[in-house]
Amino acid sequence: MHHIAIIGSGPAGYYTAEAAQKHWGDDVRIDIFDALPVPYGLIRTGVAPDHQSIKGVSRRYEKTALTENVRFVGNVTIGESVSVAELQELYDAVVLATGAPNDRPLEMEGADLANVIGSAAFVGWYNGHPKFADLDPDLSGKHAVVIGMGNVALDVARILAKSKCEFDGSDIVTHALEMLCASNIETITILGRRGPHQIMMTPKELGELMHLERASPRVDPADLPDEEEDAFLEPGLRKSVSHLRSFAAIPESVHADTPIDIEFDMFASPVRLTGDGKVAAIEIERTKVETGRAIGTGETYTIPADLVVSCIGYRSSPIPGVPFDERAGRFANDEGRILPGLYCVGWARRGPSGTIGTNRPDGYSLVDLMIEDHSARTSNKKGREGFDALAQERGLDVVTFRDWKKIEEAEEAAAREGAPREKFVDIGAMIAARS
Ligand code: NAP
Repeated sequence: MHHIAIIGSGPAGYYTAEAAQKHWGDDVRIDIFDALPVPYGLIRTGVAPDHQSIKGVSRRYEKTALTENVRFVGNVTIGESVSVAELQELYDAVVLATGAPNDRPLEMEGADLANVIGSAAFVGWYNGHPKFADLDPDLSGKHAVVIGMGNVALDVARILAKSKCEFDGSDIVTHALEMLCASNIETITILGRRGPHQIMMTPKELGELMHLERASPRVDPADLPDEEEDAFLEPGLRKSVSHLRSFAAIPESVHADTPIDIEFDMFASPVRLTGDGKVAAIEIERTKVETGRAIGTGETYTIPADLVVSCIGYRSSPIPGVPFDERAGRFANDEGRILPGLYCVGWARRGPSGTIGTNRPDGYSLVDLMIEDHSARTSNKKGREGFDALAQERGLDVVTFRDWKKIEEAEEAAAREGAPREKFVDIGAMIAARS
């Protein structure tokens, strides 16, 4: 029997389990650990609540989860209640699929002012992550600034702009919905330190900004390069840039009909945040792009900023005893190999890039590496029996997949009309719902 422990029950974890199961069939036992009592990681707490079709992929993970050879072991934090070294004693392979749950820090003066929030916290707040449920952002001001030109910046801007009924059918948590409905925000500035040809936003997500009920996107036509230059872009980026061109062509009459402006401020690098205890303004330096890099021009200007959400990327959490690449913010690894028998996959391996689907080939390639390294030999490791004995000895309150199904049932029963679920945002409440 081949024993595998996967730490993290998000997309990278489940795709790896699926691949291992496909390869080893009945000869494998896989335990998928999660610090939360609920599975699916980023699908539950990262993917935007109004993107339910993307969240639907969890049904595929459930198929894997419900097979005999795969177990969900929730409410267990590896690195705290059980060490990675202990898991390595028990399992043939240990795979870190822990994602990148921490914000890359915004390193500038004023970053510690109140209402300057990282995207992990802000997204976690509207998605009901227990760690961020009490974030309580102040949405009483008129100007929000979103730093970054990636899809997370788009998610945040869109969520800030939507009206109540545009959340129908979403699983945004009620505490966030109520605060967003009472928000006074009129201008959302998306700041990009480079230009239209360097945005990381994808076409489908950008296109959504054209269909908002009470907001419209603005792009300064002067920021757009000559249209012929778009021909050299790869097709996805070309399409994204064509969206920016359509935003630049939106007539003032349309903007006049929508009370919220989503302004793209490109060639704009944030310099410092100011305010008396709470953020009030952001100083920006105009840039120019040379050979793909943003170069400051020395010209600065200041815009109001009552709320700042920095969406500039994420870092993995180090785990005691596991080599970590501080500069890259992920585990030190060679294509997924960390140490003999210890691997990483997904964002924990490659950093925060790609879509949910990118984790599928990642999980399958990792299993190929595991086959290459130690194949499906019969081992003497104790696997799940060994873990169960350890859990009992330590008094760990393990949440099983069956427990999760009860939690899920309770969340579905508590849903607002038309919503798929109302998530528990408190770990105690999640655990209580299983009985
Ligand atoms: P991202 O795509 O890497 O974008 C990060 C942005 O932050 C870039 O525009 C970057 O600019 C900017 N940035 C970084 N450091 C900065 C600084 N110090 N000052 C100003 N700007 C800075 O990251 P992300 O938006 O966090 O997304 C993470 C991954 O999740 C991406 O692969 C994304 O596509 C994916 N995602 C997908 C979806 C979806 O498919 N619907 C939704 C959300 C996220 P530079 O380029 O100049 O460095």
